[in-house]
Amino acid sequence: MSTARPDVKRVRSDQDHSKKSTKDNEDKRQKSESKDDEEKEENKDVDWLNEQPFRANESWESWTTVWRQSCWCGKVAFVYNADPLQAKICHCEDCQRLHGAPFQHAAVFKKEMVRLDSDPEWLGFLSAHGEVHPLSKTPTPIPHKISCRACGSPLMDQGNNMIMAFPPTFEWPRTNKEVEEGNSKAGDKDAGEQEKKEDSHAAGGEGHKRNGKWERPGLPDVFKPQCHIFYERRVVDVADGLVKWRGHKDTEKMEDNQR
Ligand SMILES: [Zn+2]
Ligand SMILES: [Zn+2]
Repeated sequence: MSTARPDVKRVRSDQDHSKKSTKDNEDKRQKSESKDDEEKEENKDVDWLNEQPFRANESWESWTTVWRQSCWCGKVAFVYNADPLQAKICHCEDCQRLHGAPFQHAAVFKKEMVRLDSDPEWLGFLSAHGEVHPLSKTPTPIPHKISCRACGSPLMDQGNNMIMAFPPTFEWPRTNKEVEEGNSKAGDKDAGEQEKKEDSHAAGGEGHKRNGKWERPGLPDVFKPQCHIFYERRVVDVADGLVKWRGHKDTEKMEDNQR
């Protein structure tokens, strides 16, 4: 049984960037409901954990980690073998509520760039577009939000081809002290070839390092957003010089403090 989303919420969603996904999703759901029992039988054999972006049982042999992402309690982690393709900030109300934050900062990756680096037991799936499918241990309809069921930290939104991961949950040094500690750790690793091997999928973050050393604390350049979307709905003005779109990307541009 699914829970119907309150009407007021549905109206808001119809105006935001989830509109297309919601419609696609509803079309798919209607199709799948018509042959519900048939599909349930089929799905028994689908091991979603072995598919991207989880790849739970694949060998680590040819994998190189560039970035590592983890939740607040550490029970859920993903690793990435490349930098994101782009990043943006979304000020829509869905993002505000789902994150309990003024806006959502998301970086786009292809699913093949990602894999799970933790016990799948703690993965949580929430389809938060259109009809609500309550937080589940197994995938709910796409698009869905993936979080840690233990601490609740949201980690990424999964779409059909891409994932949008949240840069604040990535591991990079926040302070000068963390830069020093990270660099002395990296030095220790280089000393022992054996240890290096064992740690072959530990976080690298080469995109923010020079000669294997962190250069400075703070958000790595590759995660910096290129624009703001749904800026009209914002909680705070952001005077960062980036393009502000009133709604979706390529709609109407806004000034930092314009209403
Ligand atoms: Zn957690
Ligand atoms: Zn949003």
